[in-house]
Parts: sequence; C-alpha cells; structure tokens
Amino acid sequence: MTSSTPKTALVTGGNGGIGTAICQGLLKSGFKVFLAARSADKGQTAVASLSDQGAIELVQLDITDDSSIQSAVKQVGQKANSLDVLINNAGIYPDADVDILTVSRERLNHAMNTNTFSPIGLTQAFIPLLEKSNSPRVINISSGNGQLEGISADVPSYSLSKMALNGATILLSRALKPKNIAVYAMGPGWVRTNMGGDAAPRSPEEGADTAVWLATSGTMAQTGKFFRDRTEQPF
Ligand code: NAP
Repeated sequence: MTSSTPKTALVTGGNGGIGTAICQGLLKSGFKVFLAARSADKGQTAVASLSDQGAIELVQLDITDDSSIQSAVKQVGQKANSLDVLINNAGIYPDADVDILTVSRERLNHAMNTNTFSPIGLTQAFIPLLEKSNSPRVINISSGNGQLEGISADVPSYSLSKMALNGATILLSRALKPKNIAVYAMGPGWVRTNMGGDAAPRSPEEGADTAVWLATSGTMAQTGKFFRDRTEQPF
C-alpha cells in the first residue's frame, strides 16, 4: 500500500439514521467507506445520496446471517487490502410494548442475536482484514441503556443486549490487544432516527460524532472503554 491509499471502514446498518451519518463523517475524513445494508434497495439509495462526497460502495449484509457475513468479508477483501475500521452500528429496539415482566424469550433472543452476537461474529470474521491495517479499530455502537446506570425495566431486551455488547467490547478488547486491534463501545445519546423518533434532541450527525472521532483518533490506550461525547464513561 502507498501512503496515499485511503483508510477503509465498513459500517453496518449504513442505510439510515446514525449509520448513514457515520458514513458521511468518514467520507469527510477521507475514508473509503463500505456501506453495509441488509436491503440492497435501501443501501443503494443511501450510497447514491453520499457518492458525491467520496469513495463509497454498497455491501449487502444481514448481520444475523453467517453466510452473509462471510460474503461481506470476501467482497471487502476483493476491493481492499485491509480493513482499518469496523463499525458495528446496525441494531434493533424491539421493546415498544413490553417490560421485564412480560418480555418473551423469543424477543430476548432476537435482541441478543442482533445487538450482541452479530457484532461479535462480525468482529471475528473481519479479524484477518483488520490485522492487515496499521491501526485497526472496532467500534460498537452501544447505548446509555446498556450502561449499568441506564438499564431500564421498560426496555428489557434492548438494555440487556447493549449491556452484553459492552461486555463483549471488554472481552474482545482483551483478546485483540496482542494483535493491536482496538475495540471501543460508544453511546450516541438520544438521536432523531427511525429508532429514536422525532422528539429526540440530537441530530444523526451529533449521534455519529464520537464514532467518527474514535475511527480517526482512537488509541490503544483507550481500548476496551465506553465513550460518549468524546469522553470516557463508566460501563
Ligand atoms: P435506525 O435508524 O433504526 O437504524 C438501524 C439500522 O440497523 C438500519 O439500517 C437497519 O436496517 C439496521 N439493521 C437492523 N437489523 C439488521 C440486520 N439484521 N442486518 C443488517 N442491518 C440491520 O436506528 P439508529 O438510531 O440509526 O441506530 C443505530 C445504532 O445506534 C443502533 O445500534 C442503536 O441501538 C444505537 N442507538 C441509537 C439511539 C437513538 O436514539 N437513535 C440511542 C442509543 C443507541 P433496515 O433499514 O433494513 O431495518
């Protein structure tokens, strides 16, 4: 690779909300971006909306499907020598009408599978490409609902899945330290997206800011930590 080769990043759930804003911020910082989306149509629309801002390509990826993950790894490997940043942004919030006393096992499974197990699987699958980067980073988009002080009985599956994602961040950071791969968790705050709704105080760009900052400036000294507003916070 030459020194002019752009850094590369893959953002899951890049077709909307915070994911699209992260893609935009990374393009502004000079990254080549792989915008991953499970719907080819939605992904293509998002790529088209950003294509005048830099090098961006669609990768079709359902994060809960291992064969889809393998095909995404293959696709990125064919287009880039390495992956500098993996951003595990895609997530679900399935608790609108339940609480901890009524949530079903099925819903708990769905939330854990999407919000926790999929980022773990994606990180595992992208290790060979991340290892080829000079400063590889994995950024898990978590939530204040996943922090011990922010878990809520009214959003049970989401809180537990993001709390477990924070745990996975710690475990992955320890396991990947010898490979010099940094792993961070971050909370975007309450953001105006399909998930956050119209009443949320933050724009998608504000929600994306800390993830873009970690992608460009995160250090190994910060690995395994939780951030909000570019500041370390307790898990
Ligand atoms: P959003 O607008 O609902 O976007 C979620 C994204 O995840 C969509 O692109 C969605 O794809 C994708 N996704 C869901 N399941 C997927 C799967 N199995 N495979 C691939 N993609 C999948 O929500 P957002 O607010 O931007 O959320 C982004 C991240 O921020 C999430 O991890 C969320 O938990 C976190 N967060 C958000 C807030 C907030 O206030 N908005 C607060 C704290 C944390 P489709 O369009 O195909 O459904």
